[in-house]
Amino acid sequence: MNERIVLSLPHMGGTEQKYIDEAFETNWILPLGPHVNEFERRLQQYLAPDKHVVALSAGTAAIHLGLLMAGVEPGDEVICQSLTFSASANPIVYLGARPVFVDSEEQSMNMDPVLLEEAIVDRKRRTGLYPKAIIPVHLYGMPANMEKIMEISRRYNIPVVEDAAEALGSKFKGQPCGTFGLYGILSFNGNKIITTSGGGALICPDRESAERVKFLSTQAREDRPYYYHTTIGYNYRLSNVSGAIGCGQMEVLDKRVERRRQIHRIYTEMLDGYKGIRVQQEPGDDYYSNFWLTTLQVEPQGNRTADSIRLALAAENIESRLLWRPMHMQPVFAECPYYGGKTSEKLFENGLCLASGSILTDEQIERVWQAVKKV
Ligand SMILES: *Cc1c(COP(=O)(O)O)cnc(C)c1O
Repeated sequence: MNERIVLSLPHMGGTEQKYIDEAFETNWILPLGPHVNEFERRLQQYLAPDKHVVALSAGTAAIHLGLLMAGVEPGDEVICQSLTFSASANPIVYLGARPVFVDSEEQSMNMDPVLLEEAIVDRKRRTGLYPKAIIPVHLYGMPANMEKIMEISRRYNIPVVEDAAEALGSKFKGQPCGTFGLYGILSFNGNKIITTSGGGALICPDRESAERVKFLSTQAREDRPYYYHTTIGYNYRLSNVSGAIGCGQMEVLDKRVERRRQIHRIYTEMLDGYKGIRVQQEPGDDYYSNFWLTTLQVEPQGNRTADSIRLALAAENIESRLLWRPMHMQPVFAECPYYGGKTSEKLFENGLCLASGSILTDEQIERVWQAVKKV
């Protein structure tokens, strides 16, 4: 059997172990500690010095607290991109609110601003209320059209909670993804562009909101000599050992982005235009993707579909994955309103994610594209 090729694996840079050792030597094995603070400082520096970053136990936890901070309450509606991972939408339901899903633009595969505005206007007409928040996603690292989305956010005064879980290192018009919305979220899960084995972060607009998020994510303990609570808290803070891994990963982030972009270029040269295959490209100069995953659109020709390619790759021990199945097509969200047409459905139907991990060698990437071409 051929050696296994996986979609996206953790890729350590070498200094992570040093920081972990430091954490052990100083016995900072607790949640909280100096490495979490340092990791936050490095993220903040990388993203935007005027933002405040709070490291949390997961990207999903960050969306949950981001929505809470944006003022989402039970009974509210929240607009979310339909073509995404369920973790973008689940926290809406944790808060007792209701998701409203919006279709994507074809090329970026992200939230269509025209449909977003249509959804806002129609929800107001039907319910008398505006949705409480908007969750655009930078899918597979490709930036959403944040200029238009923020314009609409301002016009209707609805805050954006930006799901940049897959897009650390991506930029729109030179501005880092995750820094456009009132809140932005990142994920450091094992398969993301950098990892802390598990973790996330909430990018906050100011010190005050960041302090509030730290308070909420550490069980909402008031500053008293005994445990005293005036609000419901969460156990969502990142552990210090994970923070130590994050410090090391920040030192190689630029290299990881560079390598994923290089892998995307190789796939583009080898596969774009080949028998009805399109490799997703940046829609224009305003878009800079970290290309966390390179995705294909496969025009069905006879038996050759995205899924037949997936199966053929699997037979050669190469992992690939169909795109996220849109949320409006998920049984669990069947009752939620949806605005749009068939764009995300078609992208899902014909889409395939290729192995894109920065740890992969050129030879392994060649095995992948050779295998795709054989189908
Ligand atoms: C990974 C991911 C999340 C959730 O992050 P976790 O750290 O796994 O909780 C949310 N949204 C998107 C788009 C993701 O890819």
